[in-house]
Amino acid sequence: MKKYDLLVVGAGLFGLTISQRAAEEGYSPLVIDKRNHIGGNAYSYFDRDTGIEIHKYGAHLFHTKSEKVWKYVNRFSSFTSYRHHVFALHEGRIYPMPINLGTINQYYSSAMSPEQAKKLVESKTEGALKDAKSLEERAVALIGRDLYEAFIRDYTYKQWQTDPRDLTASIFTRLPIRFNYDASYFTDPYQGQPKEGFCSLFGSMIQDPKIEVRLECDYFEDSSVPKDLPTVYTGPIDRYFGYRCGVLGWRTIDFKEKRYDLESFQGCPVLNKSDMTDPSTRSIEFKAFNPERKEVFESKKTVVWDEYSRFAGKDDEPYYPIGTRKDKDMLAGYEAMAKEEKKVVFGGRLGEYAYYNMDQTIASALEIFEKKVLPMLRNGKK
Ligand SMILES: Cc1cc2nc3c(=O)[nH]c(=O)nc-3n(C[C@H](O)[C@H](O)[C@H](O)COP(=O)(O)OP(=O)(O)OC[C@H]3O[C@@H](n4cnc5c(N)ncnc54)[C@H](O)[C@@H]3O)c2cc1C
Repeated sequence: MKKYDLLVVGAGLFGLTISQRAAEEGYSPLVIDKRNHIGGNAYSYFDRDTGIEIHKYGAHLFHTKSEKVWKYVNRFSSFTSYRHHVFALHEGRIYPMPINLGTINQYYSSAMSPEQAKKLVESKTEGALKDAKSLEERAVALIGRDLYEAFIRDYTYKQWQTDPRDLTASIFTRLPIRFNYDASYFTDPYQGQPKEGFCSLFGSMIQDPKIEVRLECDYFEDSSVPKDLPTVYTGPIDRYFGYRCGVLGWRTIDFKEKRYDLESFQGCPVLNKSDMTDPSTRSIEFKAFNPERKEVFESKKTVVWDEYSRFAGKDDEPYYPIGTRKDKDMLAGYEAMAKEEKKVVFGGRLGEYAYYNMDQTIASALEIFEKKVLPMLRNGKK
């Protein structure tokens, strides 16, 4: 008798969602991951010394517009009512982000009304939005040169190690400007952190005994992997095809950890560093994501990670797809090859070379499961 119906490569959110749904439909998936934990890049652990939940691959905040995704994740964990807030350090002063009326009034040392602030910002803009070719042109057309230079220019330069005049305009979509005092970072109706931590959420997703998980198991290097099974592959697409069209470009992040015997170091979860004088892009104070864990939150110990962004080398963790023209051409080549693979479905951020938030990853996995994986499994049962 066949032991498994499906091989899932990668125990990140995409692979876990596929495995959970497969088991729910009565199938037995084998999930493998080359790392020694599940959860992929959204993995977190509780620090032994402080009890603080640390997000090993950078801060993860759950937020979604999708009721379907929200209902889905709530099947496996309850969520806190956490609302995300970000601040920025510029020339020795702290400002609320995203840019809102509070930021603008503080920057110009004024008490403008929304209308007055709008007029002032408009008077500082340059060029027409529709003609903007670079990130700099788009940003200056939207928020004016002053605010761009204070909060966007150097931060973006550090994030991409590229002059914003050489970056495509489409990157500047994530930071809105608000002419009110709303400083909430996300506007999604559903937000919060898993009450028992991300790892507990991931563990609950694969509770079904039909799911088998094999860790420290590399699809390409472990000869025991049953490669003849229908497969969902969530590893890097270029690696799957032996880099035949070239190596796709990624950005990675280095983290520098600091520990303090203080209740709080920076008083907020995320502090952006807006100037070139500080080479890090931002600092994360992890305990601030969980104010409900009172004992840990109020203890006189805290952990802060400074983030430094750079181009990924061959052995670095791939974090953000760069997406140059050359990358896009390579990807098109890989996508054409992927179409020819009848028993392998590609998905997730590495399998599709795309930046997905966690909710988008889950939404995509749920859809791909219905459209591609389930029909493949049903065919296999015939
Ligand atoms: C720094 C950073 C911050 C982020 N913050 C947020 C946030 O605040 N909110 C949000 O919603 N989203 C955030 N995201 C996005 C989130 O991390 C992704 O949506 C999610 O992790 C994607 O899941 P995935 O399964 O597609 O990929 P991954 O999590 O990367 O999982 C893929 C898995 O495949 C495994 N794998 C690869 N190759 C092999 C192989 N050969 N053999 C076996 N296993 C293999 C990897 O080890 C990995 O575990 C952030 C991402 C980054 C990089």
